[in-house]
Amino acid sequence: MHGGRGGWAPGLVRSGLLGILACGSWACSGPKLNPVPAVEPPENLDEIEIVLPEGGRCGPQRVTAEAALVPAEASSSAEQECSSPRPNGIDEWYSPIRPLGVGYPGGPNLLPRGVAYLTFDDGPSEWTARFLDILKEKNVKATFFVTAKQLKGPVGLDGTFIDASGTTVVYRDLLKREVDEGHQLANHTVNHADIGRITREQLTSEIEQNELLVNRALLRAGALPEVLTLFRPPYGSPWFTGIAGPIDPSPTERIASHALNIMWTVTSTDASDWAQDEAYSRFSRPATTADAPTYEEKLERVKEAVVDAPATATGDGMIVLMHDTHSVTRDVLPEIIDGLVAKGYTFETIEHYVQWRWQRPSLDLAPGPALYNSCVPDKDWGCEAFDVPVGTDRSAEVCGRMWVAFHALGGVDELGVPVAAPERSPDTGIWSQSFERAVIELHPENPAPCNFVVRPR
Ligand SMILES: [Zn+2]
Repeated sequence: MHGGRGGWAPGLVRSGLLGILACGSWACSGPKLNPVPAVEPPENLDEIEIVLPEGGRCGPQRVTAEAALVPAEASSSAEQECSSPRPNGIDEWYSPIRPLGVGYPGGPNLLPRGVAYLTFDDGPSEWTARFLDILKEKNVKATFFVTAKQLKGPVGLDGTFIDASGTTVVYRDLLKREVDEGHQLANHTVNHADIGRITREQLTSEIEQNELLVNRALLRAGALPEVLTLFRPPYGSPWFTGIAGPIDPSPTERIASHALNIMWTVTSTDASDWAQDEAYSRFSRPATTADAPTYEEKLERVKEAVVDAPATATGDGMIVLMHDTHSVTRDVLPEIIDGLVAKGYTFETIEHYVQWRWQRPSLDLAPGPALYNSCVPDKDWGCEAFDVPVGTDRSAEVCGRMWVAFHALGGVDELGVPVAAPERSPDTGIWSQSFERAVIELHPENPAPCNFVVRPR
């Protein structure tokens, strides 16, 4: 399946463009674990690089990001006609400056009753193992919005710490535990950047490199790669006031082109300060001022912020913002879970929310051709169907990132129509979808241009 060109003669090759760029030295067909090269942003960040494997070698082919992400006819017809109904005005909330997601202040934050989505940001940290112990004990699934900077350590992805029993713990093993124990991993940038204050190029790098580093860490830890289909902007910036810089459509379009934008509806307030004696590490703690709350005061405050949140009075669903980097949160988590259980709540990952809200896996929606197209019914977002209505048969649809790859690689003219639904290999963790003339694979552990790989059939 992976031999020479054979019958595979796509327009990309016929055009002769393939020969212009020198073949890279990297292999595209599988994970590259060692060593981890320094990650440099591409020279031209308006380009997405696509690779056609040639007997294990790479021939890069470049297409513009704009061409790959949003077909001109779709965006222009959307602006001009907008004939689709707008139920409850909800879709007006999604736009170039509000990518498809949930938790926007004042936004259409529909949530299922009685469900609490616990989310933990900024980890992994020295406390994460204890968070996982508690969640396991209580049989609660949660979502972890990971920043990769901790994973790195001084060199590569070998960050470690010494735990209370004197054991050296590798941060990446905590990620594997999160996956193994049924939690969901999500993207929170590499460096916890305020995306309202960085360039479009920096944001692209923060999002893509975080997914790459998380996946290389997972592979090194012995886990399979995960497509990070959910993104949370650090600080909730620029949508929450107070910290946000000017709202520029450009950076937020980069989120829309990669993931669903998941904010929150209830904050535990755990990251708004550090209490006296609160810490993120056994060996160092932030300096606190004399007016900092006592540890006990903050424990009580964080618990009340969640367990007595207004939503709990009516049993409304909620997405709860917490941090597995705060010792107060670690120590109050059991009481928070018990308090919510007493009020009738159950606990799910954000993937549950996405499928409840949009009736599709997040992979189908991240990104799609029309994620911020207010004219397209939301059930159609992110998918193109062949011979069936959208949303009825995944084996006849191309969705999400697969849609981007499909069009970048020539669409139906080159690849034919889909003949199977996307599937995740139980051996490699790689997502793939078969078309009449080729198979497209999504390799989240590889950098562009090796993240999309096409194989002739
Ligand atoms: Zn954060």
